[in-house]
Amino acid sequence: MDKYNFKEIEKKWQKKWEEANCFHAENKSDKEPYYALIEFPYPSGQGLHVGHPRSYTALDILARKRRMQGYNVLYPIGWDAFGLPTENYAIKNKIHPKIVTKKNIENFTRQLKMLGFSFDWQREVNTTDPDYYKWTQWIFLQLFKKGLAYKQEMPINWCTGCKVGLSNEEVVNGVCERCGSEVVQRRKSQWMLKITEYAQRLIDDLDEVDFIDRVKTQQINWIGRSEGAEVQFELTTGDKITVYTTRCDTLFGATYVVLSPEHSMVEKLLPLLKNADEVKKYISDAAKKSEFERTELAKDKTGARLDGVNAINPVTGREIPVFISDYVLVTYGTGAIMAVPAHDSRDWDFAKKFDLPIIEVVAGGEDVQKEAYTDVSSGIMVNSGFLNGLSVKDAIPKMISYLEEKGIGKKKVNFKLRDWVFSRQRYWGEPIPLVYCEKCGWVPVPESELPLELPEIDTFEPGENGESPLAKATDWINTTCPHCGGKAVRETDTMPQWAGSSWYYLRYMDPHNSEALASKEALNYWSPVDWYNGGMEHTTLHLLYSRFWHKFLYDIGVVPTKEPYQKRTSHGMILGENGEKMSKSRGNVVNPDEVVDMYGADAVRTFEMFIGAFDQSTPWSEKGLKGCYKFLERVWNLQEMLDDSEELSQDLEKSVHKAIMKVSDDYEKMKYNTAIATLMSLVNDFYKKGSVTKGEYRVLITLLNPVAPHITEELWEKYGDTELLALTKWPDYDKSKTVDEEIEIAVQINGKIKDKITVSKDISREDLENAAKNAEKIQEILVGKEVVKVICVPGKLVNIVVK
Ligand SMILES: [Zn+2]
Ligand SMILES: [Zn+2]
Repeated sequence: MDKYNFKEIEKKWQKKWEEANCFHAENKSDKEPYYALIEFPYPSGQGLHVGHPRSYTALDILARKRRMQGYNVLYPIGWDAFGLPTENYAIKNKIHPKIVTKKNIENFTRQLKMLGFSFDWQREVNTTDPDYYKWTQWIFLQLFKKGLAYKQEMPINWCTGCKVGLSNEEVVNGVCERCGSEVVQRRKSQWMLKITEYAQRLIDDLDEVDFIDRVKTQQINWIGRSEGAEVQFELTTGDKITVYTTRCDTLFGATYVVLSPEHSMVEKLLPLLKNADEVKKYISDAAKKSEFERTELAKDKTGARLDGVNAINPVTGREIPVFISDYVLVTYGTGAIMAVPAHDSRDWDFAKKFDLPIIEVVAGGEDVQKEAYTDVSSGIMVNSGFLNGLSVKDAIPKMISYLEEKGIGKKKVNFKLRDWVFSRQRYWGEPIPLVYCEKCGWVPVPESELPLELPEIDTFEPGENGESPLAKATDWINTTCPHCGGKAVRETDTMPQWAGSSWYYLRYMDPHNSEALASKEALNYWSPVDWYNGGMEHTTLHLLYSRFWHKFLYDIGVVPTKEPYQKRTSHGMILGENGEKMSKSRGNVVNPDEVVDMYGADAVRTFEMFIGAFDQSTPWSEKGLKGCYKFLERVWNLQEMLDDSEELSQDLEKSVHKAIMKVSDDYEKMKYNTAIATLMSLVNDFYKKGSVTKGEYRVLITLLNPVAPHITEELWEKYGDTELLALTKWPDYDKSKTVDEEIEIAVQINGKIKDKITVSKDISREDLENAAKNAEKIQEILVGKEVVKVICVPGKLVNIVVK
């Protein structure tokens, strides 16, 4: 017998699979379709990271198993290739980002092929390919035509490093998610997509999909729906401001009003203020802070009173002061709040600092604290006029009808979710297909002229003030208006990286179509994606954005389903050996090329699945990898004790059937580590016995194939009965052969038989004792008695001694 030579075997089978074209999915088939999807990678200059194969192997296991179960499986791959790291690299090294991208993709392709994933390479897509981004632009135009894309000047998060505007999702702990630079606020004119219009549906339709709870909860919290009311406060100047509150029942306790420093009323009031200079300074200081600093970091509340103007509490008629404070954001609600310091911690802190009155209006809540605010949603209204004596629950609707009757307020649902900042002043993105005409305003490029390709330019740096590098391409910019034929200029902003990934799963269904983003037939056949696995970090970005685009495409009749993905799961990260996140600067990055060279792709795949619970982060361990390599070697060496029988041996029949059941089930539940442990224990059984039948060996190889496809194909070629293991039928098990034999056991109390229980013949002493104590009649007898000891005679009886 030859030694286990993974280098030879892995190359051989990768070539054979390619020649047999066995992972190609046809759009027409009698088989049932199954669509498994992983998040397509961003082809960075660093190449694949050992974290990538964790998700890819997991769904490769599923894809391979489904093929063996007779499905027509679509398991595609592509490149999310626009984006900043490539562009920054291109700027630094003076190479066109197109060339950098091509080189990176070649490297990624080599690495993915080296790992033996069963991707359908004929469906490869690349978001930077004009044939692809033609349709990204087309979708944008449909959004524009429906009024869901608009340009607006607004304060944006500005990364001082990347020189681009960032969405809230891209600002993590106050710094840029990508480069770690400081993020400040700037006013910029930006294209926005109205994702807020879909906020309610993005929550409601989560009921119809099978997403893990963590994902659902994060999306719901991110969208942040709240029910409340808008209430009008008149100012002593006669102006009116509207506040949003979720607790209009506490209106009698509102002792001051706070506006966001950016609120339009502030500018209007400035000339009337006695302390205009102080207020102006406060506004300019606030503008320098990021939203995170303003809302999350600031424990110590700051603010400035608008001295010279008061608001009138609409229910008490009392004059109350007006402040500006940076913890109130202009983009949330109405940009103005009423403060009820007795019942809100932030308002309490602020009132203490500025020595403002605190009036309790809810009494008897669950956690009333006399020395601090009380956060009560239960309790009885006090000091509240016509609400006195009502519960909070009853007071809210009563106050709303009062406000509506008087015409000074109304019920209002609010969302934390903001519209999506959809432009970047950078080169390496999809051009926004609009032109600006003095006469006609923003006009779409005719669809027949798509794709609107990126012009060739020499330098890719953004301008100092953040102008797009495209602003330099004057020949490209100056054009004619498609509407009136007059002079017009092209938009120089490009789309953000999230554009191309918002619909790529649709392109996979029909990647070479030039008439549509995909044919109706293909969309009907493959939709929705059956199973999508990806990182938790994409839950509030990519996953939410693509659900939004999909719903829009559904509304305009392009796609047949309301939701893009039927099932969504997430994997944990693979950390460095030291338990820290892998990164170049920490020096703990493991290169897949090196470990595959040392132990083989099959061992790396097996280890990535065996490393720990799939949804948990786990540190890399070379020792663990070596262990998995040893396991595969043991599988290989079983050939030496092979007996020619096609059947299962009598003594191991049960173990084999149990293994089929357990492994089949575990793969579905992403419990890869326990599936592999089951196979390891089966291999141990064969070694203990000193022999394995051909029938048993085949089952083992088949069950292991999705995890370690190369070694198992090689063994199948020697001992199997069809051409390719990848196309063989998944094994069935006989349920009756997985059930342990059962026996009846007598349960005694103080030596007298009181009950009988039926248990597995091989039950452990501990389980038997518990089963006896939990028997119905025994439980009744044990009430109020003390168990002195339990005598267990496995296979015979249990005697419980009580007093
Ligand atoms: Zn940055
Ligand atoms: Zn025009």
